[in-house]
Amino acid sequence: MRLSQMLFVTLRDDPADAEIPSHKLLLRAGYIRRIGSGIYAYLPLMWRVLQKVSQIVREEMNATGAQECLLPQLQPADLWKESGRWDTYTKAEGIMFSLVDRREQQLGLGPTHEEVITTVARDMIRSYRQLPLHLYQLQTKFRDEIRPRFGLMRGREFIMKDGYSFHADEESLKKTYQDMYKAYSNMLRRSGLAFRAVEADSGAIGGSGSTEFMVLADAGEDEVLYTEDGKYAANVEKAVSLPADAETSPFTTYEKRETPGTDTIEKLCNFLKCSPNQIVKNVLYQIVYDNGLTVLVLVNIRGDQEVNEVKLQNELTKLAPQFGGKAIIAFSVPTNETIATWAAKTLPLGYIAPDVADDYITGSKQVNSQFVRLVDQTAVELKNFVTGANEVGFHVVGANWGEQFKLPALTVDIRKAKLGDRSLHDSNQTLQTARGIEAGHIFQLGTKYSQAMGATYTNEQGEEKPLVMGCYGVGVSRLAQSAVEQSYDKDGIIWPVAIAPYHAIVTIPNIKDAQQIAVAEQLYTELNKAGVETLLDDRDERAGVKFKDADLIGIPFRIVTGRAITNGKVEVVKRANRESQEIPIEEVVNTLQQWVKEAIER
Ligand code: ATP
Ligand code: MG
Repeated sequence: MRLSQMLFVTLRDDPADAEIPSHKLLLRAGYIRRIGSGIYAYLPLMWRVLQKVSQIVREEMNATGAQECLLPQLQPADLWKESGRWDTYTKAEGIMFSLVDRREQQLGLGPTHEEVITTVARDMIRSYRQLPLHLYQLQTKFRDEIRPRFGLMRGREFIMKDGYSFHADEESLKKTYQDMYKAYSNMLRRSGLAFRAVEADSGAIGGSGSTEFMVLADAGEDEVLYTEDGKYAANVEKAVSLPADAETSPFTTYEKRETPGTDTIEKLCNFLKCSPNQIVKNVLYQIVYDNGLTVLVLVNIRGDQEVNEVKLQNELTKLAPQFGGKAIIAFSVPTNETIATWAAKTLPLGYIAPDVADDYITGSKQVNSQFVRLVDQTAVELKNFVTGANEVGFHVVGANWGEQFKLPALTVDIRKAKLGDRSLHDSNQTLQTARGIEAGHIFQLGTKYSQAMGATYTNEQGEEKPLVMGCYGVGVSRLAQSAVEQSYDKDGIIWPVAIAPYHAIVTIPNIKDAQQIAVAEQLYTELNKAGVETLLDDRDERAGVKFKDADLIGIPFRIVTGRAITNGKVEVVKRANRESQEIPIEEVVNTLQQWVKEAIER
């Protein structure tokens, strides 16, 4: 392609609305254009990158025996009602775009395709002889994200490869899951990315495993905890660890103390000269189940620990049936405003005790009249602890479960593992932390969807069984941008060769020079013919501008038909390390072919 004929517009300055380097660079280098919040045009250079990533994804998927198909983006609400996800996906914080058609039928724009594929399987899979089966697609997904940001990283319209597998049993599922683990590792390695596979939260479905593939980068939205020995890595949402030991409490007798102005753990510790790990902290949450019922939750946890809200929500989802619901549609820490909607009297916030009375709640059809009380393991173990006295300005010290306070019936693990915690597999290993961008997620679904939607098969014994399912997603557009987030310098993008839009760019420093043009045209033609995807910068611009642009768009190899051509040579520069050498013109094609081959691992 000739730059003179391309839509080639680069910006010198950083666009105001971009926060992270990869977003700035893709905008500046003319790869993408913002059309609306979380909505982007993929311009020709970007589209080539996306096609390269897609091709790698396809090759790895096909190698496992999965088959490509294409499912509809318009999805009837009925399917989502069957699976029980319509309300959670369209109400409150749900992320599905929904609409009503001219026949007054409700539809959603596909954020994911479990419902559609399960319908297909229900209709078409009859017998164990058809199993296992794995279908995948590459498609635009729609999600009305609460915070679209960072360009393609969190879009409202983005490209995903999603695959779904069907099995007769767990064992077969586990095999495909292992194949996918390898395929995903290959995809990221071949795309030139540094990544880590980490244990991930499987939501309230529980039991079954899930792995996220994290591209390591400071701008990542996820936190990964891992041990140096390489034996443990998990998303912080899922991570487990041993907490530091609590110190022995200095308060050996129970008493109520006046503790003015101590509504935070820090202030309380300063005032009482104690450690946060001698305190039972009581944290309030407010949730809404999908049947519209608001439930207030009181969590007791050791004062030096934080609540892992993902773990907490999983526990509360397990309790949903008890309240006539299936899922949580809203989760928050109550504010003065929301408290006012249910409080019968003023809550002693900051001084709440584990036994705070249920009569603080005005119960109704919409609001459960009792607190759901959960205690974290770290708080269960405390002796002679400090906690609130249910009165502003007062705490109690030297308290014990079973004496002053009844231990809540539900003991759970809802603490957040953190940097420096000891690891469970080896207490000499402490957890390290890194930021990651979730590029892919593989998941053992089990029978959640097949059971809900009645997708069954007949086994060898002639019995009807629900299909066992797995699902596997990789964000093609997010992956492409994360490559930039991992590889750039002050002058621009440094694409890994395997997903660069072009391998090489031939730059003519002076387009008034007929000899320069002739050599460049010849190389341009020969390189492309030899499979080295090459751009020709034949624009009527100063050499400096051309070099800057080539650096900015990040093409791996630059060939300059400058002064050296009088000696029968051209200058060749590697973008990654700026290494420059003069190569005889007749050796350029072979050399470049070789370099590209070496750089694109299989
Ligand atoms: P996240 O936790 O980042 O919101 P997710 O758990 O919702 O992601 P999945 O439903 O597992 O994501 O989707 C599979 C893959 O699709 C993700 O691993 C990610 O690479 C990509 N993806 C998800 N949401 C977006 C988005 N809004 N924009 C771009 N890519 C996305
Ligand atoms: Mg995820």
